[in-house]
Amino acid sequence: MISFNVPPVVGNELGFIAEAVENRRISGDGDFTKRCSRLMEKRFDARHVLITTSCTSALDMAALLCGFNEGDEVILPSYTFSSTANAIILGGAVPVFVDVRPDTMNIDETKIEAAITPRTKAITVMHYGGVACEMDTIMDIAHRYGLMVIEDAAQGVMSTYKGKYLGTIGDFGCYSFHETKNYSMGEGGALLINNDAYLERAEILREKGTNRSKFYRGEIDKYTWVDFGDSYLPSEINAAFLWGQLQMLDEINNDRLTTHRIYSEAFGPLVKKGLIEIQNIPDGCSHNAHLFYIKLRDLEQRTEFIKYMKEAGITTVFHYVPLHSAPAGIHYGRFSEKDIYTTKESERLVRLPMYYGMTDEDRHTVTETVLSFFAMTEE
Ligand SMILES: *Cc1c(COP(=O)(O)O)cnc(C)c1O
Repeated sequence: MISFNVPPVVGNELGFIAEAVENRRISGDGDFTKRCSRLMEKRFDARHVLITTSCTSALDMAALLCGFNEGDEVILPSYTFSSTANAIILGGAVPVFVDVRPDTMNIDETKIEAAITPRTKAITVMHYGGVACEMDTIMDIAHRYGLMVIEDAAQGVMSTYKGKYLGTIGDFGCYSFHETKNYSMGEGGALLINNDAYLERAEILREKGTNRSKFYRGEIDKYTWVDFGDSYLPSEINAAFLWGQLQMLDEINNDRLTTHRIYSEAFGPLVKKGLIEIQNIPDGCSHNAHLFYIKLRDLEQRTEFIKYMKEAGITTVFHYVPLHSAPAGIHYGRFSEKDIYTTKESERLVRLPMYYGMTDEDRHTVTETVLSFFAMTEE
């Protein structure tokens, strides 16, 4: 059996968790949380990194910080996870879906302007599979129309666009440390604040509406309820786990990239023959091998493929029923212009096993099984 995902565990996590427990510091914003924030700020050249309980909560915070009013609109792709859209609804705005580019499955930057109305306040991009959206074009549009930019970089930790780490380009960046992501803390995430104007409000929002963060830093001698807030800080137990993972940023990344390269090389001939397509990595983008997908002919062939792989003991999965066609998407949102690629391409896409620590033998079994499927269908 080859699983689709195995949560990353590098071996040092329990030691750090024991340290948190022995120090009797297990609630939020202790040493481990601080260390994780500082490490990421330094490594990713990020201005402010606030660790959160999930990427969902980081997206929620970003939307609340934007301060939308009723009837405001936010542009986003339909091919994404529900959290990307939920945050917009929580923030009080309407999600306006834009089609994707078939080569990366990212929002099509050339279709964003047509979706802008006088009510548009922000663009939420999602870097699919850790491959960057065309951020120069998107940031230029945002500046010209005065829009906020939120990066859903749940899948993009360690990836770059023209030398900048994903999550550090828009006003806000959101990371996920769920166990299905490249780095984990069980459940967790981070909000990157790249626009200093929002930092103080973000700290208050994250700490139940209080200025406790300032108190912890010794800037004030007592803390109080100053504004609306919620609770978005994870326990030190989770932060200690993440600290362990962050010690292995490059090892995990390189290991995943090796799997990605082995798949790409093995499937080169299938791509050449036009039997499948794989994700394009545009010039100027470095990726983190968050996932590896192939696109088959159509839905029918994908169903056959998944069954074939399953019979060989290999789990492959597809995802994202386009949000605009899901019940909540129909209720809350609308699609701008035509859905040319979102639905059609999502029905052809399937993801292969990809996780830290995959053995050479398992990599080989996956590539051989995929090749044998196409050898069979060509006969
Ligand atoms: C995983 C994921 C999320 C949600 O992350 P959580 O940490 O589980 O809340 C949001 N957006 C995208 C694109 C994701 O892949």
